[in-house]
Amino acid sequence: MEMKFIDIHSHLSFADYGGDRDALLARMRAAGVGTITVGTDLASSIEAVRLAEKHDGIWASIGVHPKDNPSLPFAEHDFAELAKHPKVVAIGECGLDYFSPKGKEPVSEAEKSRQKKEFIKQIEFSVKYGKPLMLHIRDAHDDAYEILKKYPKARGNLHFFTASSEVAKKFIDLGFTVSFPGVITFAKETQEAVKNIPLDKMHAETDSPFAAPVPYRGKRNEPTYVIEIVKKIAELRGEDFEKVREQLLENARKTFTIGI
Ligand SMILES: [Zn+2]
Repeated sequence: MEMKFIDIHSHLSFADYGGDRDALLARMRAAGVGTITVGTDLASSIEAVRLAEKHDGIWASIGVHPKDNPSLPFAEHDFAELAKHPKVVAIGECGLDYFSPKGKEPVSEAEKSRQKKEFIKQIEFSVKYGKPLMLHIRDAHDDAYEILKKYPKARGNLHFFTASSEVAKKFIDLGFTVSFPGVITFAKETQEAVKNIPLDKMHAETDSPFAAPVPYRGKRNEPTYVIEIVKKIAELRGEDFEKVREQLLENARKTFTIGI
């Protein structure tokens, strides 16, 4: 398959695709779309590696989500063998998530320190195994920055980036990239960073099955829709689509050491 696009963050192992995963993979091949499918706990990480092993154009990220699975902590011995797999190109999604919906209690100090502990374990793991981090940081950029600063060898990407270019630049200075999701196709307040950070420091992602871009909003998302996000990045920056498409492939090769 000649790869034209890569969606650097999807969840193809999720049950949302249980009924028609093969058809979806065929659509991806036809459109020249590859992806990094991301685990959020041990079971979905194992499944991500299995999918990557079976299919060209699919890579895996393994790790534990900051808040989806508080009863399943990250343990090095669970992930060590998986991390050595050549198609495992990142550790995560891991990070910090202090988001609390309006009207709900804010995240407690105890929960914050639990998340920090899990995060630090996975940063150290990523440095030890020489793989970049796939970061999930929500409403917690200051704490994440303070922690990552202590690990000069840590590298990787901030997934689902919707903060300002000022925040992006701080992490870029630490050696990280950011990836933009489908919300940039409709939410103006998320577009500023797309326009103002260097093109070689960004990626496009779908976070499938969540957060579909226009014109698929409200539907189940899938990696082929990353094409809409690449189009929007080119449009917002006023740059040639082909140039943006090629640079985003190059960025994925560099950040995740993907041979495409
Ligand atoms: Zn995700």
